[in-house]
Amino acid sequence: MEEMFEGSFTQQLPLSDAAIEAAVRVMRSGRLHRYNSLPGEVAEAAALEAEFAAYMGAKYCVAVTSGGAAMAMALRATGVAPGDAVLSNAFTLAPVPGAIAGVGARPVFVGVTEDLTIDLEDLAAKADASGARVLLLSHMRGHICDMDRLMEVVHAHELTVIEDCAHTMGARWDGTLSGRHGAVACYSTQTYKHMNSGEGGFLVTDDEEIAARAVFLSGSYMFPERHGAIPPGEVFERLKRDVPNMSSRMDNLRAAVLREQLKHLDTDCVAWTERYRAVEAGLRNLPGLRVIERPEKEAFVGSSIQFRLPDWPAPDVAAFVERCKARGVELKWFGAAEPQGFTSTYADWRYAEPERLPETDRVLAGLLDMRIPLTFSLDDCALIARIISDEARRGSAARPAAE
Ligand SMILES: *Cc1c(COP(=O)(O)O)cnc(C)c1O
Repeated sequence: MEEMFEGSFTQQLPLSDAAIEAAVRVMRSGRLHRYNSLPGEVAEAAALEAEFAAYMGAKYCVAVTSGGAAMAMALRATGVAPGDAVLSNAFTLAPVPGAIAGVGARPVFVGVTEDLTIDLEDLAAKADASGARVLLLSHMRGHICDMDRLMEVVHAHELTVIEDCAHTMGARWDGTLSGRHGAVACYSTQTYKHMNSGEGGFLVTDDEEIAARAVFLSGSYMFPERHGAIPPGEVFERLKRDVPNMSSRMDNLRAAVLREQLKHLDTDCVAWTERYRAVEAGLRNLPGLRVIERPEKEAFVGSSIQFRLPDWPAPDVAAFVERCKARGVELKWFGAAEPQGFTSTYADWRYAEPERLPETDRVLAGLLDMRIPLTFSLDDCALIARIISDEARRGSAARPAAE
């Protein structure tokens, strides 16, 4: 009998009793809107902003409705105007180019390397060719590029960096928290990220002008002082008639459950990476399958794992994905012809008129991706790895010429 996996790849942990009680307290109060507070009361959303800023070691933080909203606000707050070119990763999730398109700007896609990070040579070339002033850098699936080299390219081309840290909340590059290299960082607290409020996000920065603009953009109804991590009042005075209200505020209910989760974020990150390492260990040294080697300076959070089947013909990859699925292991394939289930690629974002990137196409053609929810045990991870390796061996054996 072949081994089967029975778990669910989309099942996150339940919220803790403390988080549930915090949510119930907010519901009992009736004061769900972040600006609906009693005299002297610090609203949950404001308290969360102060706590997340402190966690990040950042001066300012604005809690918002989604990671996508945070990115759109970051683009506006850094001065991106309609028609501007904005550099971004070809390998990322749809809300990233979506945020660029949403402000009327033009995404310019930069290729991906075999390590799944942004191609720095291509970045330099595209920066020259496009005249872009802003890079929306996506740490897609938690892979952090060489940030030291990236910042050299960025300085040489005078780019402002906005970091998309949807998969790197709690991760570090060379000891520095992900999101602390660029001018602004954006985080998501959507269910499949590292904290779960269903939907939600943060914008984090040390720049007082960007922070004040972000507060107004989030829809502050002229209550900036009700925010938890903000610049001095004079910055708001200066800008208050210049910035539109885009109504993307976080509410107190989500903030209350996030405050509890922030307390155990670091512990959760360790648990994710243990599971990642358990899967990875089972996938090493297989014919035709490559794990992604992680740089020493990268303290990543293993909430998902990627591996490559380089040079496998598309029908073989499709058959492999099907066989894994039949045994309960859900993989996403970035080389599939049709965009589906969270997995589209730059070539599918036709509104952005993407230029083809042959090297990126080659990497994506053999790229597989799997979620690792914390509901999986280490034994589950070992079982999943056995199933994937069985099927990878079977797939390679059927195609002896390839190895
Ligand atoms: C999830 C995600 C986002 C933002 O997601 P929202 O659903 O808008 O909160 C941004 N970038 C990447 C790479 C993501 O996976």
